[in-house]
Parts: sequence; C-alpha cells; structure tokens
Amino acid sequence: MIRYCCLSHVFLQTKGNTRYSITCFDTTCKALKNVFGVRPLCSVSKPSGKELPRSVNRRTIPNDGYTLQDFVATSHVRQVGVASASGELQKVHSKIKVGWKGHLGNISSIPYEKLGTLDKVYVETYGCQMNVSDTDIIQEILVNAGFELTTTLNDATIVLFNTCAVRDKAERKIWHRLDALKRKQSSGTKKQVVGVLGCMAERLKEKLLEGEPRLADIVVGPDSYRDLPYLLATVSSGQNDAAAYNVQLSMDETYADVSPVRFNGQGISAFVSVMRGCDNFCTFCVVPFTRGKERSRPVDSILSQVQRLSDNGFKEVVLLGQNVNSYNDISLGETDSHIAYSSGFSSVYKPKRKGISFAELIRRVCQVNPNMRIRFTSPHPKDFPEELLDLYNEYPNLCRHIHLPVQSGSSSILKKMRRGYTKEAYLSLVNHIKEKIPNVSFSSDFIVGFCGETELDHRETLDLMMQVKYSQAFTFAYSERSNTFAAKHLVDDVPADIKGRRLQEVIQLFRQIAENESIKYEMNSLKLVLVNEKETKDGKEYWVGRAENNKKCFISNKRIYSCIQDALSKTTSDLVSIEKGDYIVVRVCQPGVQRLYTQPIARSSIQEFRKIQENARTKDFISRLSL
Ligand code: SF4
Repeated sequence: MIRYCCLSHVFLQTKGNTRYSITCFDTTCKALKNVFGVRPLCSVSKPSGKELPRSVNRRTIPNDGYTLQDFVATSHVRQVGVASASGELQKVHSKIKVGWKGHLGNISSIPYEKLGTLDKVYVETYGCQMNVSDTDIIQEILVNAGFELTTTLNDATIVLFNTCAVRDKAERKIWHRLDALKRKQSSGTKKQVVGVLGCMAERLKEKLLEGEPRLADIVVGPDSYRDLPYLLATVSSGQNDAAAYNVQLSMDETYADVSPVRFNGQGISAFVSVMRGCDNFCTFCVVPFTRGKERSRPVDSILSQVQRLSDNGFKEVVLLGQNVNSYNDISLGETDSHIAYSSGFSSVYKPKRKGISFAELIRRVCQVNPNMRIRFTSPHPKDFPEELLDLYNEYPNLCRHIHLPVQSGSSSILKKMRRGYTKEAYLSLVNHIKEKIPNVSFSSDFIVGFCGETELDHRETLDLMMQVKYSQAFTFAYSERSNTFAAKHLVDDVPADIKGRRLQEVIQLFRQIAENESIKYEMNSLKLVLVNEKETKDGKEYWVGRAENNKKCFISNKRIYSCIQDALSKTTSDLVSIEKGDYIVVRVCQPGVQRLYTQPIARSSIQEFRKIQENARTKDFISRLSL
C-alpha cells in the first residue's frame, strides 16, 4: 500500500513485512486543510519494533518546542530508496537520513567520484523552458561530479529523461520513448542506466520502477537533482538490477549556487531560473504537486549569474519560474507591506509580505547590461502591479512582449479553474497595459473543454481573443491530471469530439486575427532582431533571429550598414557582414503569424532602436532607412 498525503513530504509506505513512515513537518498539510478543506493523511505510522519519539506520537508541543533534530531522528525511512532485482522496494542504507532538504548527505561508501569519470551521460529534455533550464542544472551537477556529457544517445552509458507531467500527451510520449529504449536494450545492445527526472518522476514515483520489464533504473524529482551523482553511483555499484529514487520536494531548494553549463548551446540567449514551485493551485494544474511550494532564489545569486552571462557575450536572458512574477526574495527579511496584485485579481493564499519583489528584480537585471534583452515566463496575470508595468517604459531592454495566460474567456469557467479573476478584470488589465506600453504584444495559454464548459463559455473565449488580438497562442484541450482538485471534485464532461472542434475554432480564430494584424501593422515595419544562427529555407540561406515580439525573423544574408547613422546618410563605404549575436534593424517584407521575412538594414543597439521606434511613425523616415 502506498499513500501520499500532501504535495511535499508525507509518505507512508508498506511493502511486505517492512513498514515505513516519514513525518510531515511542512505547513502544506495545514494549508491544504485550511484553504481547501482537504483532510490530510499525515497520520504517523510506527516503524516496526521502534518506539515513536514524543515529537511525533504526541499532539501537544513541548514547552521548549521541537527541533529539527526531533524530526530528522525519526525519519527512519525516506522517499529515498532502492529497488531490488525483484522490484521490491527495500531499505539499502539504514543510516541514511533525509534532512530538511532531502539530500542524502555525504555517503563515503559510494565511490561516485570514480564512477563519474567512467560514465557518459545523455540528457533528453521534454516540456517547458523551466525543464530546459533544469537540464542545465542537472548537467552542471553531473559535470562537477566527474561525469562526461554526450549528445549521442548510443555513446552514453547513462540516459536521462527530464520529463513533463503537465499534459497527458507529454507523458505518453515519454512512456513510448522509455519503452522503445528498453526494447532496444533487450535486443542485445549494451545496457544503459535509464533515469526519469523532473515532473513525471515526481508524479509517478515508484510506478516507474515497478513495471515488468522495469522502464527506469533511477527516478529523481525536481528538487533532488543534487543527489543524482549519489543515486547513479548507488545503481551502478549495486546489484545488476538495482534501482534508486529520490522524489522528496523541498521548501527551499532553488539551486542558487549551481551555475548551469550550456552544453552545445548557441551562446546568445540563456534561461535563468529565479523561482520554483507554485502556490496558486489552479484546479486543473498538476504543477503545485510536482514542483512544490513557491520559493525564490536570492537576488544576488541571480544578478551574478546574469553578469557572468553578459561577460560571456550572451545577449538575451529569459527569467524563469512556474509563477515567475510572484518572485519574492525574503532571504534578507520581509517588509511590513504586502505584495500588491493587479486590480481585480486575487489569490487562494493569504497576501504575502514583501521582500525583494519581482519588479525590483527586473529593475536590477535590466541594469546589468542595457544591451541585453530581458524576458520572463511564465507569469500569472495577478502579479502585474504598476511598479512592474512602469519598467517597460524605463528600460528599453525589457521586451515589450507579455505572456499573459488567460486559460478561458468565461468568468464562470475561470472561477471553476480558481484563477482569481474574471474576464472583465483580465480585459481591463490588457487595456491598461496597451495604453501604458506602446507597441506591446501579448501571447497566452488557452484550455478548451474544461469541466462544465458550455457552448456559451466557449464563445466567451472566442470573444476575448477578438478583443485582445494575441500575437502568439498556446492552445490545449483539457486533459485530467490526477491529484488536482478538478480530477477529484469536477466532472470531465465535455466529450472529446467537442473539445477537438472547440480547439480547432480557437486555433483558427487565433491564426486569422494574428495574420490580419501582421499584414496591417507589420508589413514594411522596422524590427530589431537579435541574430542567432543561419538556416536554409527553400534552398536559400538566411540568418534567423527573434524580434522583440518573439516572432522568428528570416533575414536575407547580405552586407549591411554598420550603424543607423550610416544608413540615414547612405554611407556605403563601411558595410559589414551580419554576425551571430548582432542586433540588426530589418524591414518586414513578408508578414506572417509565426515568421516574418525581412530585409536587413543596419546594426544597432537596443537604445538606438528605441529612438527610431519613436520617430518611425513618419513614413518619410522609414523610407530613408533602406539598403
Ligand atoms: S499558476 Fe500556473 S503553474 Fe501555478 S497552478 Fe496555476 S496554471 Fe499551474
């Protein structure tokens, strides 16, 4: 029997004659009870033959309070374990204790340093940018422990899948991949250690270790990557069929001190993870269960990473977090004021006291290098206070493209989703942003066919899309995820064919609006593109890069003016070639929904281009800027 209590810690497990317990000393159970009325299962079980200390078998708190030691000392069994060849979960190292962070600690008996030097690791990443950033962290941890990275699966002795559990489709893809790998192995090719990491590992835990044939040898949740070298060493040094796992979530792990390596990266744009976890508990979403509670990385460690990236020639930084704009660094203390929300928005949790806010983080990051673009994802619309919106006009390097996930345009569906806003509040925020920030563009996420969605609700979504006019949209048909409030308490009652039809309508409408808008406003317009790489299309070679609105731009490969002034005076004596990492001004000659075909004009800086944008309203000025 395996029972889970809350999203963080409590875990009660009975296998054969061995009975294990772990104590929840997290506030999550309390929060679940208070906010949602969910009754936690965190009754403590007595490990066989042992007396429970008073810290866990009494409900009264001793006068001198509990210490961490009280809890650690009673954690006889953890969410760290090893499976034997027969697939039974067993204790391997009875002395191993899981502390507050859930790390294994220093286990000198495991010769992981030696093993690391022999092993080549291949990592395959699925899901969001947060996972891409996590892969960087994973690789950094492994390289520091002596492992070697490879981009060729067949060369690897260890194959790791960094997974996504947000949608059923993503999970199915990974199951197929694992299955294919296992079949390949059993057909005689060399045995590779296979690991499942990240959200799917957190969600499915031992299910991944128990099948026959077992598809994974190692299962590691998103807060346990530091233990990877130990766990890999445990598996490699154990019996042939040994398996290991650690899926303990943490209250404070941010990997702040891990500076990720960019393996085979382009060296132009980097992801920087600034916070982890989410406290919003939207009713459809599995993220709070797989990623745990919100925690923010100290601002200084973020700034020094951004500075390092700037020093190494990176030209764009994307700040990442599950609810990135609820970033709140309290490592140096909290103020008396509370975090402000956008007007008309609320959260399911009590207002938090303010430390260093997201707006302050953005201000400091923008100041690191004014010629480095700053983006962030994925935000929640509730966390766009005025002080954040003001920064878009103050710092030209803060990209005027805002991802504003709406999920649905129906206020009654939004309520069922527990998003904390109505359609009207969302639209009023969009209009306010449009008024305040010139040339701003929006992207969004949509879920169609959520529990109880009627035709009228669906029409509300289409209506909202017509009002906002998004330049990018990520659309999904609702799929139930276990553990979520929706899976437990709402009925997934929209038939698959209706979900499919509504999804098509949303996609079609988005494309139609985005195309019209692009023809109307982007044809002949000037864009500043950050050049990334060369690509061949229809037999022709282009440079490609991203405009500020995140659209992919194809740029004819020709020599350009070295600066805007040369372009204005048509000085052709100093023409230069386009280089990777350049910011260049282009003119759009073929608009589109996702791609723009453009002619290059001149190199520029972000600041210079902002001045052009302010003058570019006159056709005359634009007509002077050509090659
Ligand atoms: S804010 Fe985003 S990550 Fe958090 S629960 Fe809602 S949908 Fe999931």
